[in-house]
Amino acid sequence: MTVYLIRNVSVVGGAPTDLLIRDGVVAETGAGLTAPDATVLDATGLVALPGLVDLHTHLREPGREDAETVESGSRAAALGGYTAVCAMANTSPVADTAGVVEQVWRLGREAGLVDVQPIGAVTVGLAGERLAELGAMADSAARVRIFSDDGHCVADPKLMRRALEYVKAFDGVVAQHAEEPRLTEGAQMHEGEVSTRLGLTGWPAVAEEAIIARDVLLAEHVGSRLHICHVSTAGSVEVLRHAKARGVKVTAEVTPHHLLLTDEKATTYDPVYKVNPPLRTAADIAALRAALAEGVIDIVATDHAPHAVEDKECEWAYARPGMLGLETALSIALDVLGPQWDLIAERMSRAPARIAGLDGHGLDPAPGVPANLTLVDPAARRVIEPAELASRSRNTPYARMTLPGRIVATFLRGEPTVLDGKAVR
Ligand SMILES: [Zn+2]
Repeated sequence: MTVYLIRNVSVVGGAPTDLLIRDGVVAETGAGLTAPDATVLDATGLVALPGLVDLHTHLREPGREDAETVESGSRAAALGGYTAVCAMANTSPVADTAGVVEQVWRLGREAGLVDVQPIGAVTVGLAGERLAELGAMADSAARVRIFSDDGHCVADPKLMRRALEYVKAFDGVVAQHAEEPRLTEGAQMHEGEVSTRLGLTGWPAVAEEAIIARDVLLAEHVGSRLHICHVSTAGSVEVLRHAKARGVKVTAEVTPHHLLLTDEKATTYDPVYKVNPPLRTAADIAALRAALAEGVIDIVATDHAPHAVEDKECEWAYARPGMLGLETALSIALDVLGPQWDLIAERMSRAPARIAGLDGHGLDPAPGVPANLTLVDPAARRVIEPAELASRSRNTPYARMTLPGRIVATFLRGEPTVLDGKAVR
């Protein structure tokens, strides 16, 4: 293994220091380190963060390898500064058996660019009718701990209760896509002033808030861990604040796009802005940003949702919901939060690693810690060119926008996956 000496790097915003990486771990830190056998990287002006961890990634394999593969999604993740991603279960076939989650896990190992941790489906085929083989997936080589029907809500309260009870045995967590389906039939965008103006069927905030309210009460009743995917409304924040004050074991995520883009984007009729849950209002964004700073929302998760051109570049009503996220998430976080490195490390690495129970991830670079880390140039600005993204899909809402920050290098267990801003393979 190559030995790396990273010179003059600010670890999570601290004073510049050197990091020596040897045998997959951070061997030493301190000023003026020497190592004759090391490859030296001058990191003056760069910030080292623990490798980012995404709790919500759609890799599309198996089934839609035209939109993304485990390998292309892993490369996009590494370029975005990630060292671990949790792969959602809505593949084809659905990841609802030990066989499918092991396949995804193995493909991730073979790609070797990030740790791919499969998420298991809660219900068979995401159909919301009967529980999938949660225990078999937990016992499999993939050691699944997060279960989600994401894309669909586990709408049946009895099934949700049983899932929460089941995962408690192995400290698992149910990640809910909170959307009361009866309230969002035919919905195309956020229900509000803009949807009225455009004459599009609205997705009301209460469809999300009602499910979160129900599920935090169920989680409290059962004593299980609950995670809420892509929180998008100010009302959801208030429900979560109340639940956390009661001691409910609930965690929550917000996506970069819900921190930045409003439902006004729908007036362009460009389906790149169609997403589930939909883009909301400026008031919602303000509440989500405050909740993220405060900790009512625990993490930023990308909901990276690659879609093939034919599924996205069509009429709004027929377009699939979802946006790319892995290669731009840190830049959006930097734009929204500013250089609050400790907060960024907490929301994008430490907390998601804890929620997912990922060993060796989410740890600040320090002696003895696995060398899963990323180097960021906070002074750089870059223009997002869809054609240059590593993802197989092109549905980024940030095309041709200038965003702050650039990932210079990413290390997975001491081996670079990205160097000089480029994937090593
Ligand atoms: Zn979802």
